[in-house]
Amino acid sequence: MAAENIAVTRETFDNVILPVYAPAQFVPVKGKGSRVWDQQGKEYIDFSGGIAVTALGHCHPALVETLKRQGETLWHTSNVFTNEPALRLASKLIAATFADRVFFGNSGAEANEAAFKLARYYACKKHSPFKSKIIAFHNAFHGRTLFTVSVGGQPKYSDGFGPKPADIVHVPFNDLAAVKAVIDDHTCAIVVEPIQGEGGVMPATPEFMQGLRALCDKHDALLVLDEVQSGMGRSGKLFSYEHYGVQPDILTTAKALGGGFPVSAMLTTHEIASVMAPGVHGTTYGGNPLACAIAETALDIINTPAVLAGVEARRQQFTDALTALDRELGLFSEIRGKGLLIGAVLKAEHASKARDILNAAAAEGVMILTAGSDVIRFVPSLVIAPEEIDAGMTRFAAALRKVLAA
Ligand SMILES: *Cc1c(COP(=O)(O)O)cnc(C)c1O
Repeated sequence: MAAENIAVTRETFDNVILPVYAPAQFVPVKGKGSRVWDQQGKEYIDFSGGIAVTALGHCHPALVETLKRQGETLWHTSNVFTNEPALRLASKLIAATFADRVFFGNSGAEANEAAFKLARYYACKKHSPFKSKIIAFHNAFHGRTLFTVSVGGQPKYSDGFGPKPADIVHVPFNDLAAVKAVIDDHTCAIVVEPIQGEGGVMPATPEFMQGLRALCDKHDALLVLDEVQSGMGRSGKLFSYEHYGVQPDILTTAKALGGGFPVSAMLTTHEIASVMAPGVHGTTYGGNPLACAIAETALDIINTPAVLAGVEARRQQFTDALTALDRELGLFSEIRGKGLLIGAVLKAEHASKARDILNAAAAEGVMILTAGSDVIRFVPSLVIAPEEIDAGMTRFAAALRKVLAA
């Protein structure tokens, strides 16, 4: 018997879902490319990309094709058996990066959990069980498991859940002197987002990234890059570490990896991977054939000169439009980020308006995001059409004028 359809609306959310989200007042029901439609048939231009996930837009024909083909072939086997899509995806990720070994998970938090456990385990096996200090950064975001939220640098997300994993130190982002002051030979890892996403769209400086690499080398610590948001073409390179001339020891990717299908990966070197053995870590769904087949198709499309080179041109179109808007309205103190991870920072006197701007934008028919309390964030599809950027920006401009007039 087919599932029975019951009528649901935005009000249903308040009665059936754990209240950890405050979703918009409309319910999207359909998407195509960078356009989305809600229950009432109203159209939106999507500059939010499912939070940097739908990097090829909604229902990309090649992803749909793979979903259907693999969906009729093999979905899941568990890691008691390996599978062809996982082996192909891992091989392609290795060919495209610094890495020689891959671990698959289902979310960014899971990839980071694996990364932090691996960094601790490697130090324990190679050096000493006392080499467990993790250095991380204020405003960092690494996921919502207890370990990842504790390494994250936002106490509002980690307080209230009892004792946190110990030996995690937070210092200011882009402040090399602060890292130098706390790093020592008991440090197993520095964990950093090359471009902080949730924390306000803040890129690391080249000196900072290169300095972190040197400090890790000096103290036998691992450099762990969280590229869950900044990776998979978002910055205009496949992974944003390529902008900095540094190689990580461990890198995590998720969000855009599956173009909207849940899948994540942790990449590392042969040397670091060699401390692991069967049973030390694992997950039931991780690396399932359905997720990996879709991610393989997404990677094949994103990791091409055409898509990667297109990111910079689209960024330029966004920043030109935002700069022009700012000349008229005087709202922003800075436009920052890299590639199609764009933050428009509200001036102090407008900082409280981020949420109003988000709601007004939705009313005008454009989906945007915030990051932190005072940054408007744009993370559209990497292949959004220039006309769609124009149309979305016109709607965004109308929203800003309404908020300022209110
Ligand atoms: C979104 C995000 C995560 C968490 O990913 P989930 O899939 O929500 O678990 C971790 N790190 C960064 C940098 C992110 O942007």
